[in-house]
Amino acid sequence: MYIVLLGAPGAGKGTQASRMAEQIGLAHVASGDLFREALSNRTELGLLAKSYMDRGALVPDEVTIRMIFERVALPDCAKGVILDGFPRTIAQAEALDRTLAGQGKNIDLVLYIKVSEDELLSRLGGRWLCRRCQAPYHIKSAPPKVAGVCDVCGGELYQRTDDSMETARNRLVVYFDQTAPLIEYYQTKGKLVEVDGEQEIEAVTRELVDVVRARQVQK
Ligand code: ADP
Ligand code: ADP
Ligand code: ZN
Repeated sequence: MYIVLLGAPGAGKGTQASRMAEQIGLAHVASGDLFREALSNRTELGLLAKSYMDRGALVPDEVTIRMIFERVALPDCAKGVILDGFPRTIAQAEALDRTLAGQGKNIDLVLYIKVSEDELLSRLGGRWLCRRCQAPYHIKSAPPKVAGVCDVCGGELYQRTDDSMETARNRLVVYFDQTAPLIEYYQTKGKLVEVDGEQEIEAVTRELVDVVRARQVQK
């Protein structure tokens, strides 16, 4: 099963993808996490990505597409994948469709997590991430049990520099310009299901998992 999570920066894609992956038993592949991992390993890919991420711009399609395809070819993705943060442009979506079609597969479901712009900014402004496992927290809505420490792995929490108000605003502009057109792209293909992302975290997960389970029954 191939599932795409679509939504603006701060909509809750990472939060929901990891909860869904656990409940449904699919791999969670997050493009932003892969870039940050590459950067912390000081690879060429990581350093290249950083120059775009720092500005809140998108990393070029070619590099991003190659990275994602290498990742989803690994054995843990054989049963299916939840894609978080990819595709983010029409060109990426078309490349994904082409590659899956070549393997006799296709995208089963695109879950669009809808959140208003004011709420997005307040989520990004209060987001903390684990340096080790990238689990997301929020100072108000999803605080860790111990301040500054990851519940999952005990790693140190930090704030992403691209979550600063100025860069976050720029990321939203980029989202509306380059990524939002994917809503219509997948709607036209009959794959899109919209979910209200402004409910509590658990309620959003329940809705998303229900949609996936209903689709699994149909298959
Ligand atoms: P994305 O991956 O879409 O950028 P995240 O999953 O990192 O979004 O969530 C952004 C921030 O909002 C995080 O700090 C997260 O803890 C918080 N958050 C996620 N979902 C909710 C929710 N339903 N209600 C309140 N805060 C949320
Ligand atoms: P968000 O919380 O905004 O959804 P991510 O962690 O998914 O953030 O992405 C962080 C940054 O990584 C983006 O601003 C962009 O620079 C880069 N990035 C992530 N995914 C993609 C993609 N599919 N295409 C191009 N750039 C990407
Ligand atoms: Zn952690």
